[in-house]
Amino acid sequence: MSAPPPESMRFAHGRAQIRWRRHAAARRICLRIEPRGGVVIVTLPLRRGRAAGLALLRHHAAWVSACLAALPAATVLADGARIPLGGRAHHIRYLGAGRTRARIAGREILVSGAPEHLARTVRACLRAEARRRFTLLAARKAARAAVPIARLVVRDPSTRWGSCAADGTLAFSWRLLLAPAFVQDYAVAHEVAHLRHMDHGAQFWSLVDELSRHRKSAAHWLATHGTGLLRVG
Ligand SMILES: [Zn+2]
Repeated sequence: MSAPPPESMRFAHGRAQIRWRRHAAARRICLRIEPRGGVVIVTLPLRRGRAAGLALLRHHAAWVSACLAALPAATVLADGARIPLGGRAHHIRYLGAGRTRARIAGREILVSGAPEHLARTVRACLRAEARRRFTLLAARKAARAAVPIARLVVRDPSTRWGSCAADGTLAFSWRLLLAPAFVQDYAVAHEVAHLRHMDHGAQFWSLVDELSRHRKSAAHWLATHGTGLLRVG
């Protein structure tokens, strides 16, 4: 019997978690780094064993290590941590035990409850705040575009900032809350415009530009700093 596959591995940069995946349609073994959590994802085709995956991982250890080293620094949601809401620094302040709750007050995020629940409580607070802000923003833009929003949800996807479903549901990454306001403005305009045009044609972009002045600067900001948003929490 072969040994179970390792769940983490030491690289020159440090230890990283390894996640193993099977993919029927994969033709070869694929290595990928997920910025959220700095996890190494190894995707195996059906007929390749984990030993082959492990061999490939060892062969490309220097590349994996360089990718991990190139990731922006991670921010852990803990007492004293500084996180950017709307691009402005806010400090997490732990108030001690008591009712489990977190709220944003000025430039602080005040948290109480058992210390082991702090990160989870802050994350829930940020998701709720993201949903509140994006709902307001989307309602304003949808009114201007004269389109109805069926539903707005906030999620934590690893690759997209927003999406628009055929049933009129808009979905946003809560992490956009960490980006500057002009980036949020563009991201919401983009998805609201999809309620009218599901493609990325000329009419779509012209509506996006009607709904937000920040298309270029926001796209540039996300291309430059987007990975950093995935490194919080
Ligand atoms: Zn789009």
